Amino acid sequence: MSVYAEFHRRSIEDRDAFWAQQAEWITWQTPPQTICDHSQPPFTRWFAGGTTNLCHNAVDRHLAARADQDALIFVSTEVGIEKTYTYRALHDEVQRMAATLQSLGITTGDRVQIYMPMVPEAVFAMLACTRIGAIHSVVFGGFASGSLASRIEDAEPKLIVSADAGSRGGKVIPYKPLLDEAIRLSRHKPAAVLLVDRGLAPMERVAGRDHDYATLRQQHRDAQVPCVWVDATHTSYTLYTSGTTGKPKGVQRDTGGYAVALAASLPHIFMGKPGETFFCTSDIGWVVGHSYIVYGPLIGGMATILYEGLPTRGLDGEANPAIWWSLVEKYKVSVMFSAPTAVRVLKKQDPAALKQHDVSSLKALFLAGEPLDEPTGRWIADALGVPIIDNYWQTETGWPLMTIANGVEKRASKFGSPGVPMYGFDVRLLDEATGEELTEPGRKGVVVVQGPTPPGFMQTVWRDDARFVKTYWQSIPGREVYSTFDWGVRDADGYYFILGRTDDVINVAGHRLGTREIEEAVSSHPNVAEVAVVGVADALKGQVAMAFIVARDAAGLDDAAARLQLEGEVMRVVDGQLGALARPARVLVVNTLPKTRSGKLLRRAIQAVCEQRDTGDLTTMEDPAALEQIRALMAR
Ligand code: AMP
Repeated sequence: MSVYAEFHRRSIEDRDAFWAQQAEWITWQTPPQTICDHSQPPFTRWFAGGTTNLCHNAVDRHLAARADQDALIFVSTEVGIEKTYTYRALHDEVQRMAATLQSLGITTGDRVQIYMPMVPEAVFAMLACTRIGAIHSVVFGGFASGSLASRIEDAEPKLIVSADAGSRGGKVIPYKPLLDEAIRLSRHKPAAVLLVDRGLAPMERVAGRDHDYATLRQQHRDAQVPCVWVDATHTSYTLYTSGTTGKPKGVQRDTGGYAVALAASLPHIFMGKPGETFFCTSDIGWVVGHSYIVYGPLIGGMATILYEGLPTRGLDGEANPAIWWSLVEKYKVSVMFSAPTAVRVLKKQDPAALKQHDVSSLKALFLAGEPLDEPTGRWIADALGVPIIDNYWQTETGWPLMTIANGVEKRASKFGSPGVPMYGFDVRLLDEATGEELTEPGRKGVVVVQGPTPPGFMQTVWRDDARFVKTYWQSIPGREVYSTFDWGVRDADGYYFILGRTDDVINVAGHRLGTREIEEAVSSHPNVAEVAVVGVADALKGQVAMAFIVARDAAGLDDAAARLQLEGEVMRVVDGQLGALARPARVLVVNTLPKTRSGKLLRRAIQAVCEQRDTGDLTTMEDPAALEQIRALMAR
């Protein structure tokens, strides 16, 4: 048995001993009493009885050895700022923020929503929450008021931390009006709003509710706020993700298991060492940002780069396709983490850009969020000359479910495959209809995880255990297994290949969106009677959303200009409610939508037609002409 196979085997078969050892990567105030409690499946409780604190592990525990080393390196090519915080400075800032939160009445267990651009204060707010045992819920800054409102309603935050504006490609995007509108739409109203004023956009304050961070920070300049020791099972955060219904799910994560999972992943998977620099280009609004911009690198005593901006603009605001590589050179980045979409963007730029900088500090580039196609993988591997390591995970898993653990044993990657199941994950492939386990190589099935799930994995759906059980653990007949809702196939060497989603979730530029959410937004246009949204393959973004609509009043819509006007209006409705990320690439008017005789929308058939693939068996289809019209529209 290979070294890694034995490591993986122990993590499953000798679970308690294996994870008790991994638990030593973090600092505990009191050690865990039980390692893995799986007495109430499918729930798994890790390290119960142990007390710890995420912020202590990420910040305070490093003060003795590395107070003057870099902790947070903020680079914004949007506003031309480059600023470094040492561990000592980060400790000071987090305490100022924690004291501010306390002054606004926040205490252990309270929810704090964070709707922020990529600014240091967002990181301070996350760490300040976990410092005092408050539960943070970060909402991606690119989401608009409708998405934000549904998250506010579900999380019921006492406080929302936000800012005047973000910026993208030099264009200021005011956040405050979106936030005010979201609070107006939400049935739950936060007691307070804390605002970071970047001086980018004017803000209207609501008296008694809105507070300026600059003023409160000044009042708490010398604050000392001790870490609150919490049980390992204490909820550290929730993070909303799209599913098959219109209502996003609050993925709920613990404290101790998460800290251990991240701490162990640094040596085993990412090969990052204390004192080195980690550069993850994701956003704090996504799980990758939580795990590998904020908590992971800091728990591991590394410096982390927080980057606001496009991969193609420099600090002077001018076009610069080499900006990321210049940061790699300057900060001697040893671990870099990005997404295939970003690499595809860079691939379209001048290839010589990569050669301008010394990137020899890099040990590897990790890519995740969407399938890594072979041409993109090969291009960046050749250009950088370092290993490109694909890793497959989900908001729910918190860290990679599949990759190559080169820190345990060096093993070749295969293009198109994220690798093999990580330690702690008992992965199986099942037949979707029968639940039969597919053991022979080459058979396509649903990727599932047999419980108990490993440390760092979601605890439940926020305030909805029933939804957690029903959605994730009861989707396959006769089996209580966690479904990833991804299709996969395994080759003879045990490497997996991910073949797309089994449900109505699409992946746009590495970001997960529910087609139902987009459909709900599209339907709110007064002239939309029916709509189907599907994800269609796109060379740059992996997938884009396409909307097919049946108009309430089709009069005049045989005119191309009128159709174009309706398309523009529908796009604006989606922009306003969900944000530009969810905006369909096209909105096409059809006479009817393809459905089964029982009225179920045939999204997979529409998608197949759009991608010029075989539609499969359509004998249950009500009206074949519906699909033909879509085929004709797409052929234009
Ligand atoms: P999210 O929860 O937003 O991170 O989205 C998770 C989904 O993204 C997974 O269920 C997959 O469909 C897809 N995904 C993430 N990483 C990969 C990868 N390396 N290869 C293929 N698909 C991926």
